Amino acid sequence: MQIVPVPAFTDNYIWLVHDDSSGETAVVDPGDAAPVLEALKARGWTLAQIWNTHWHPDHTGGNLVLKEATGSTISGPGSGRIPGRDISLSEGSELRLGDHVGRVVEVPGHTLDHIGLIFDEDRVAFVGDTLFAMGCGRLFEGTPEQMYASLGKIAALPEDTRLYPAHEYTLANARFAAHADPDNSAVAERLAEVTALRDREQITLPTSVAEERRTNPFVRAPDVATFARLRAEKDSFR
Ligand SMILES: [Zn+2]
Repeated sequence: MQIVPVPAFTDNYIWLVHDDSSGETAVVDPGDAAPVLEALKARGWTLAQIWNTHWHPDHTGGNLVLKEATGSTISGPGSGRIPGRDISLSEGSELRLGDHVGRVVEVPGHTLDHIGLIFDEDRVAFVGDTLFAMGCGRLFEGTPEQMYASLGKIAALPEDTRLYPAHEYTLANARFAAHADPDNSAVAERLAEVTALRDREQITLPTSVAEERRTNPFVRAPDVATFARLRAEKDSFR
């Protein structure tokens, strides 16, 4: 499974997923169609599937144009807010790309119908706007309880699982993590690494379950009350 980032807007990553043996390609959260079509053309790949983690326009805005251009099937979560959706996904739903099998976990919090896509054998998870490297999504629709449980589901995956969030927020998150968890040397080291990467305008993703367990203050929060306090503090942190 090859996974390629397609940068979009100011800080989104749209992930292209390609299976060499079947030649099939999927895209995760195409907020914009043009950069996806360009990336497909550059690699000679044909899009067959569109997978959405949640309804926000910066994750679904390219759905209809891509479907029209490629005849792709659109799979996404529950509530009917996914443009052009063909297949409804919920907890336990299966996705296939060639021989790669993914399963859906419901991870509410950022939105109520947010899902994650987990390819257990590949040790890959697409986590949308639920977990970011060293951070987590804002609570637009859900409660702290829901988001804390959702992060717990992701953090409980095998520690070598690579996590693919949908935004390049790592540097701002690392600065907050250093503030929230000042005695954590793994956070300080990662802040230095991420600063160097972003100075060279390089991507900081994917991350991994192991890295997040070590350095993500929201994952490391011992209880919901601590999580809720950190999330509120991060909302206004500069
Ligand atoms: Zn979102």
